[in-house]
Amino acid sequence: MDERGDEREREDWRSRALQVGVTLPVLVYLAVTLPARSDELLRGDVLLFALAVAIVDLIPVPGWGGLQLSLSFPILLGAAIVFPPPVAAAIAFVGSMDPREFRREVPLLRALFNRGQMAASTLAGSLLFHQLADARGSVPRFVLGVLAAALAAYSLNALAVAAHHAVLRRVGVWRVLRAMHGAAPYEFLMAYLGLGLFGSVIARFYLSEGFWSVAVFLGPLVVAREMYFRNRALADRLAEQNRLLAEQAARLEELLEKEHRAVDELRELNRMKGEFVAVVSHELRTPVTALLGYAKTLRQPGFADDATLREEFLERMERQGERLLRLVENLLTVSRIESRELPLSIGRVLFEDVVREVLEALAPEAGRVTVRIPDELPVLATDRQLLARVLQNLLDNALKYSPEDSPCEVEARAEDGWLTFCVRDHGIGIPPEEVPRIFDRFYQVDQSSTRAFRGVGLGLSLVRDLVQHLGGGVEVDSVVGQGSCFTVRIPLRHPRLAAPVAVPGDVAADA
Ligand code: ADP
Repeated sequence: MDERGDEREREDWRSRALQVGVTLPVLVYLAVTLPARSDELLRGDVLLFALAVAIVDLIPVPGWGGLQLSLSFPILLGAAIVFPPPVAAAIAFVGSMDPREFRREVPLLRALFNRGQMAASTLAGSLLFHQLADARGSVPRFVLGVLAAALAAYSLNALAVAAHHAVLRRVGVWRVLRAMHGAAPYEFLMAYLGLGLFGSVIARFYLSEGFWSVAVFLGPLVVAREMYFRNRALADRLAEQNRLLAEQAARLEELLEKEHRAVDELRELNRMKGEFVAVVSHELRTPVTALLGYAKTLRQPGFADDATLREEFLERMERQGERLLRLVENLLTVSRIESRELPLSIGRVLFEDVVREVLEALAPEAGRVTVRIPDELPVLATDRQLLARVLQNLLDNALKYSPEDSPCEVEARAEDGWLTFCVRDHGIGIPPEEVPRIFDRFYQVDQSSTRAFRGVGLGLSLVRDLVQHLGGGVEVDSVVGQGSCFTVRIPLRHPRLAAPVAVPGDVAADA
């Protein structure tokens, strides 16, 4: 098991103390025990074992994070079985290579610690094996000894690596051990026990055939490890691609969902368009039919001489004509607002003039309207036509949605640079839950085809847009069965006029 720590971790005195605490006893042990075995050490096979460990360690493996399955482990365990403990430890110390040592990426003490802990765990494995079994002894005892040795070596090694990480990161050893083993807590242990059995085969081959058989045995093992890691890297890449694909699929699903919603909205718009055409046609047909009817009646010879009747019919025709005109003008204004082509023509405007003009157009129903405007109301600098359209639509509704004999009121006052006027009726009122929607285009509280009131659902949306165009806002206060009050607030001087000077004659400012 190698230690591939995060290089950004900083060594401090604690980690150095741990490194020295592990390395020094190992070195002292080797220094004390090895001189007596110097002839054994110089045997070619010992060097070959150390060389095999070094070569295996130096062959790069594709990293995949966490612990590395080390192939040097079975060779070292083979050495622990074949050689006496001090010699096996020396092989581990000399042979354990870390490629980073050659690139000078690890400090000397850390390199010594890495080698020291490998030597210590090999030593522990070797001591245990030689206590329990004999390299050439019976197979059951031999296997038992190998497994015990593998377990001891693995545990000591894992503990040393974890302790070092724990000191570096200032966390508990147990936590590091858990993190190191991740989602597969026993997988590594089993893998190392399996590698330990490989070590036993290496040892037996070596004892019966010599080192050449170890080399032949190791070759396929190295290749197998290489393939394992390649597969592993491939599997990781596939998993990553799968994750990306799943992400893209989720995004596509989201887009599809949006698309569905857009299609639904378009369908709804289309339905509304159809409905709108039907409603508008109906609204247009009524006055046109009336106009034709009056015209035809007037043509009849009996009417030509009756001046009073003729006058009355002409008046009715005029009213129907006005109504038709209002509807067409509303439609035109909506279309201009939609295409952002609504002109703004700012000039001097007297509010009472606007009221009079609108009431005249609404006659004779306008007789129900009481006007309360103070005499000293200031002259406005705003768009007269748009303001008239606002008042006209509000009054039209007030008269329409209240009984024919009930009064309606227009009141106005000016303060702090604003004109506030309200149009009040004592009619059917608006249910509170409908109030937020009545300013929407084409929205009508009563949407049934048997509606009692004429209209296409454009008036209030126009009022809202036009008032905004004049730089103000509109609010409604209504009680069902008692009536409604629409309050409009617009600036005395349209915001488009820069300096607050006396308003000149007629100022045109097209939008
Ligand atoms: P419509 O052409 O239907 O009058 P509007 O946009 O002018 O369309 O008004 C939208 C809806 O708000 C109307 O259908 C009506 O239900 C409601 N409404 C508007 N003004 C009044 C009012 N003064 N009293 C009661 N209900 C009103």
